[in-house]
Amino acid sequence: MPVPASPIPVAVLGATGAVGQTFIRLLEGHPWFRVAEVAASERSAGQRYDAATRWIEGAMPAAVADLTVVACRPDAVRSPVVFSALDSGVAGEIEAAFAAAGRLVLSNAKNYRMDTDVPLVIPEVNADHLGLLATQRSQRGWTGGIVTNANCAATVAAMALAPVHAAFGIERVFVTTMQAVSGAGYPGVPSLDILGNVIPYIGDEEPKIEREMNKMLGRLEAGRIADAPFTVSAHANRVPTMNGHMACLSVAFQRSVTVEEVHAALAGWQGHAICRGLPSAPSVPLRVMAEPDRPQTRRDVDAGRGMTVSVGRIRPDPLFHVKFVALGHNTIRGAAGGSILNAEVLVAQGAVPVA
Ligand code: NAP
Repeated sequence: MPVPASPIPVAVLGATGAVGQTFIRLLEGHPWFRVAEVAASERSAGQRYDAATRWIEGAMPAAVADLTVVACRPDAVRSPVVFSALDSGVAGEIEAAFAAAGRLVLSNAKNYRMDTDVPLVIPEVNADHLGLLATQRSQRGWTGGIVTNANCAATVAAMALAPVHAAFGIERVFVTTMQAVSGAGYPGVPSLDILGNVIPYIGDEEPKIEREMNKMLGRLEAGRIADAPFTVSAHANRVPTMNGHMACLSVAFQRSVTVEEVHAALAGWQGHAICRGLPSAPSVPLRVMAEPDRPQTRRDVDAGRGMTVSVGRIRPDPLFHVKFVALGHNTIRGAAGGSILNAEVLVAQGAVPVA
């Protein structure tokens, strides 16, 4: 595995937002990457990072506090690896400009996720889909490229479904999510709307959950993805928790499957071998909990430093075959941490030049 002798300089686009701040926290002391540049909108450009940012969680790493925020333009940012936490309203044009300028963009935005030549990756699930980068470069004439990670709720559900789809073949999924307020970014949902309340609507969330899992659990064949052939029905709810998206899943398989078989498939899952030993890979990507009332958002969201998805309450379903609950950290596994792990896989594959 080509390990960098010294940390690779990276930039964070959208560094002032909720996901951008999570990148900054997770990259502090990272053995392979060093935050060299922070970029955001013209409103923030020119200010020191600590002045431009309303910091949300813990202490701001000292190494970035006095960096000057720059504009999100390839001529203002030099790093070869670019983590994007941009608002989707602007991510499309900006990320393409960076990819065309030879940068490797690891994106959290929805804009390119479903493009046929763009990898949509959870490394433990489908690291092989990174092979699409070659197609992307030849089709678009880019020397860099865009690699995306999924919607945060789709990520949690896909990690819990990947082992059972591989083992038994999924036919139908019914999923209800309970999603934390940090999923709406900063400042996000007004406190008077969410305190003591549940909102049964998150704009554009259900279609993302319903389409992205099929791509991620699909197969890379001859330079394109053959989607996994199951149907998903999603209900997405915003709930008054800080971090952590919970997904209650009912699953029908192509054959009758027992609770014991599902338990064994989930508990034994290691994920793609290339992830083992990478700096951000948790020792256990999926943790199966035996307690009847777990996982719980507050107690379990930080498992594996936010990179482990916790699963529990595996039981028979009278309408489908089996139902269970999954929980994952939305801004870590479902966003910044997932992107960083994608970048680590690319380094391990030799796709990022290392000094
Ligand atoms: P956020 O808190 O609203 O942050 C948005 C960032 O985009 C800020 O840094 C903002 O900079 C920057 N920005 C806005 N307009 C810009 C412009 N015209 N030019 C350059 N930069 C601009 O949003 P977030 O929750 O961090 O989400 C970021 C992205 O990740 C979104 O695409 C979101 O859908 C996705 N995502 C979020 C989560 C989650 O759990 N929150 C999970 C998965 C994916 P200024 O401060 O200068 O305005």
